[in-house]
Amino acid sequence: MIHFVGAGCGAADLITLRGKKLIEEADVIIYAGSLMNPELLSWKKEGCEVHNSAKMTLEEVFAVMQKAEDLGKTTVRLHTGDPSIYGAVREQMDLLDEAKIPYDSCPGVSSMNGAAAALNMEYTLPGISQSVVITRMAGRTPVPEKESLRSFAAHQTTMVLFLSAGLLDKAAAELISGGYDPDTPAAIVYKASWPDERSYICTIATMADCARENEVKKTALIIVGPAVAQRGYKRSELYNPGFETGFRPATK
Ligand code: SAH
Repeated sequence: MIHFVGAGCGAADLITLRGKKLIEEADVIIYAGSLMNPELLSWKKEGCEVHNSAKMTLEEVFAVMQKAEDLGKTTVRLHTGDPSIYGAVREQMDLLDEAKIPYDSCPGVSSMNGAAAALNMEYTLPGISQSVVITRMAGRTPVPEKESLRSFAAHQTTMVLFLSAGLLDKAAAELISGGYDPDTPAAIVYKASWPDERSYICTIATMADCARENEVKKTALIIVGPAVAQRGYKRSELYNPGFETGFRPATK
């Protein structure tokens, strides 16, 4: 059995209780070494075999899983944040399907949640933005043209950019040419939930300089959109005294 487990975005105690238990019980752990907190590995049981996937290919990762399965062992495959976001899990699952090896998934706290927490931010402010676009600049992995930042910019919604901290001049140009005002607020959150977490509030026009000045090149999320200002929103209907819900009658 293989368990894909979200390690959370940094602080060890942001993993789920289920994720921690799976680590404690695993015979084999394969972890994404580039971004994961090594503290999580201190929970492994004695004799647990540990592999750092940062140094491995997909084929090598799969070979470790297959060997463990042949020996009747339980494997935990740890991914940073939540495995469903830029986690490259599907390609592993397809190989497991082919080999008829069972697996399941345990979610994790994505860095997009960690970054919102760092800013005490609500992404979906009533009257401002009710949608969040999760995207990235093209890097070695291309982004389909129909998903260009420029095209998403037309919606003026909250946008969270992964894997893009080194490409902010280009990102800003695309966002502005797509329709955002250059003064639209933006936030850069570096290493959300780690001890050296830092965050900066700037604008789309200044975000590239802000990242350069503060030497943020990687392990950062960029959040853009009017919601970053956290002002000018309408209060919620859910907690409005004049609005009845299934749990509470209207009081005025
Ligand atoms: N599955 C992960 C994302 C993996 S892609 C998740 O759910 O968070 C790797 C990118 O995630 C990095 O380039 C960076 O943009 C972002 N990232 C990961 N950890 C981060 C953190 N602690 N703070 C800010 N950004 C982070």
